[in-house]
Amino acid sequence: MLKSFFEENEIQYLENESLKKHTTFKVGGKAKFIALPSDAAQAAKLLCFLKDSGIKYYILGKGSNVIFRDEGFDGVIVKTANLNKIEYLDDTTVYSGAGVQLSTLCKNLQEKSLKGLEFCYGIPGNVGGGLFMNAGAYGGEICSAVWEVEYLDENCQLKKINVKDCDFSYRHSVFQSKNWLITGCVFKLQLGNKEEILAFMEDIMQRRVTKQPLDKPSAGSSFKRPAGYFAAALIEECGLKGCSVGGAQVSEKHSGFIINKGDATCTDIVALAEHVEKVVLEKTGVKIEKEMIIV
Ligand SMILES: Cc1cc2nc3c(=O)[nH]c(=O)nc-3n(C[C@H](O)[C@H](O)[C@H](O)COP(=O)(O)OP(=O)(O)OC[C@H]3O[C@@H](n4cnc5c(N)ncnc54)[C@H](O)[C@@H]3O)c2cc1C
Repeated sequence: MLKSFFEENEIQYLENESLKKHTTFKVGGKAKFIALPSDAAQAAKLLCFLKDSGIKYYILGKGSNVIFRDEGFDGVIVKTANLNKIEYLDDTTVYSGAGVQLSTLCKNLQEKSLKGLEFCYGIPGNVGGGLFMNAGAYGGEICSAVWEVEYLDENCQLKKINVKDCDFSYRHSVFQSKNWLITGCVFKLQLGNKEEILAFMEDIMQRRVTKQPLDKPSAGSSFKRPAGYFAAALIEECGLKGCSVGGAQVSEKHSGFIINKGDATCTDIVALAEHVEKVVLEKTGVKIEKEMIIV
């Protein structure tokens, strides 16, 4: 039934696909289907069909903050990678599809001498996932450049929401409490100096390479920053650097990252993250909370 729906509506899909290939942690079982709508109209048609048919689905961006369970996903992963249009609306206003990679958008803006999102360079997610998480780095948060977000609501209707109604705060947005699919976003940028923007982007990328275990699969910082503390410092203070469960390990290079040494399972990662949370709470009294999302 699903295959004929995809084929009749010319929706690109993958069947019985390993989710390891679709997340930066490289763990998880297989998805029954991964569907890749090519625009908002196709995404709306797909979501309506899945809802009406009672088929389980999950929206996936670049998979850089999500890990899937080892038993896999018995439904449809709706992957936004093909919602990848970038369109300039005027000199400083740009529409980006949800499936555009943040680093690709940053490079595109830099070439047009536009600043306002350059701190996102090196965050390995897409625009949609960045908005959902209110991704941020080096003093910036994606919400600071948002004008309005375009999304499909729970009835698969295409709507727009102004930034002031998005309830953005540290790693939080309104999208986390809604069953919506973000299809794109209008960003307002400022004109800047092309070379200075490039220099900043290269500098923060260098800082990432120096400080983060980028040679190993991960979901970036595994824990949110608890108010008044740094998760990595607390983890280190508790002697958990290098601690491992199966193939999952607290990185020796950056204690805030749990890494996949090569053969980790989702179960290993979750067990290690829960162990870290428990020890940190017992030894320091501070509650740290996972940033990565387990599906
Ligand atoms: C090496 C590394 C470094 C990182 N550094 C940073 C950093 O500096 N700062 C930071 O904030 N994060 C960082 N991250 C984490 C991650 O890149 C961000 O959270 C990013 O915003 C996730 O985007 P994504 O497209 O990968 O989303 P995914 O991981 O695919 O999804 C994340 C959540 O968003 C939802 N979602 C995704 N797209 C949509 C959509 N279109 N509509 C509705 N919901 C959607 C998903 O359902 C899921 O719940 C890092 C990760 C790695 C691996």
